[in-house]
Amino acid sequence: MIKGISAAPGVVIGIALTITEEELVIPKFISTFDLEEARLGQAIQSAKLELNSLRAKTLETLGDDKAQIFDAHMMILEDPELLKQTLTKIKKESVNAEYALNAVANQFIAVFEGLEDAYLKERASDVRDVTSRLLCTLLKKKKISLENLSEPVILITRDLTPSQTASMDRKNVLGFLTDIGGKTSHTAIMARTLEIPAIVGLGNFSATVKDGDRIAFDGETGEVKINPTSEQIEFFTSRHNAFLEKKKEQDLMIGLESKTLDGFHIELAGNIGTPRDLDALHRNDAEAVGLYRTEFLFMDRNSMPSEDEQYHAYSEVIKGLKGKNCIIRTLDIGGDKKLSYLDIGEEANPFLGYRAIRICLREPELFKTQLRALLRASIHGPLSIMFPMISSLEEILAVKTIWNEVKAELNEKLVPFALDIQLGIMIEIPSAAIISDILADHVDFFSIGTNDLTQYTCAVDRMNEKIEYLYNPYNPGLLRLIHMTIKNARAKNKMVGICGSMAHQKDLVPLFVGMGVSELSMSAMHILSTRKIIRKLVKSDCEKLVIEFLKLGTADEVKKLLN
Ligand code: PEP
Ligand code: MG
Repeated sequence: MIKGISAAPGVVIGIALTITEEELVIPKFISTFDLEEARLGQAIQSAKLELNSLRAKTLETLGDDKAQIFDAHMMILEDPELLKQTLTKIKKESVNAEYALNAVANQFIAVFEGLEDAYLKERASDVRDVTSRLLCTLLKKKKISLENLSEPVILITRDLTPSQTASMDRKNVLGFLTDIGGKTSHTAIMARTLEIPAIVGLGNFSATVKDGDRIAFDGETGEVKINPTSEQIEFFTSRHNAFLEKKKEQDLMIGLESKTLDGFHIELAGNIGTPRDLDALHRNDAEAVGLYRTEFLFMDRNSMPSEDEQYHAYSEVIKGLKGKNCIIRTLDIGGDKKLSYLDIGEEANPFLGYRAIRICLREPELFKTQLRALLRASIHGPLSIMFPMISSLEEILAVKTIWNEVKAELNEKLVPFALDIQLGIMIEIPSAAIISDILADHVDFFSIGTNDLTQYTCAVDRMNEKIEYLYNPYNPGLLRLIHMTIKNARAKNKMVGICGSMAHQKDLVPLFVGMGVSELSMSAMHILSTRKIIRKLVKSDCEKLVIEFLKLGTADEVKKLLN
């Protein structure tokens, strides 16, 4: 049995489809101009049809922001210079279309790759993608597309980007397994949001699997078996049945209160990345949105979403919640989330670099546009706004100055907005957790981002599977920081939630309840199981558990205590 890092639960048995970008062999032969011009024209027409259908499908399932990837590809396909130079080469050298196209496209790619500007550099991969689509048609090779699979498969690959994960054919992708990535990489987070069973960080796994191999895996334990024996299939099948049974039991929690036996309510909220994720939240009876990661609206496109586009996305979520509260987080770009059109430069340590609020404070127009869109959307229902990666009081004060400027500008233009918007910060950097008693005076709420708080407290990159053993939620130092933050918020009567992946970890929930947390926010799929746990707890017992925890010095001891 091979073991990786659990990304999203679910037990799956199915056939492997390995995804490696195959090197295309480009033939060179003498041909006539008319024939090759016609072949190239047909390939372009067929690529246009493919792109149109991919765009329509993506628009329907994932919305306009994701669909725009294909607009960029269409523009390259219609680029007059690429076509002109390819035809000239065919004519001058009497060569075949694929040879000429490949040679011309490689020159374009080399030029883009040599540019300083990160946005233009990124265009190289778009040209490569479009060229490979055309070459596949000319060479009659099938291009593997994750959006359109013909049968149910388990995808095996070295890595997936968050956007590839978002655009997967959800009907036919039974699950996916990747060589790299950690539990809180955004690919893993996306798998949980989309409820696709997945394991990441499997080392060199993709090299050991062939297409058509039978694979069985358990997304919860991280265990995988290639070509399982009949006994092993029986084992995974019984796990699968147990998983379904557990889901059925969890459904009994729909409509019940998230209250401990002694009557303390813990709000169970959901994390979303796009308005479409609301369906899953409603299905799982979420009480609010505790984290709307707005950066997904900014990703996989060629330009910033306009104020109106942002206003529509935020309004859609607020309206969809029908009176339940919505915490929308301002742009958290940087780290493992990049924008092709915003040059943040090459960084040795992107997670310690130019990211989130640091970018927004340096790019006030970008920040103000988002704040205006949020303020305008606030008339549709209860809204809280949260700022990511806060490391100091100075940053909160700078944010508030901009916030007040934006409100004054809207007032002047008589644009309506709600007056009771709550402002909060993510506590995900130790320097903020340590002065949380002071920060609590300046904001309405805290939400603890344990994904980043773990990496910054324990100095362990959340993306690096080699040091995953140090990315340990039982680390007593990390848990003490969380405890301290909750205590400081409570002392000032401020709401304090947890929205990182630790929020749904079964054995930690009693500890968080004992510490006094008011809200836990998680992927939709974990809400009902967490409600089930909360309904069995007695708060005073949980408080005693915290006293016991404070005596411990090792992660193993903490783990044992919580078990
Ligand atoms: C976190 O850091 O815990 C968090 C919720 O934010 P993100 O995972 O988007 O960095
Ligand atoms: Mg974070």
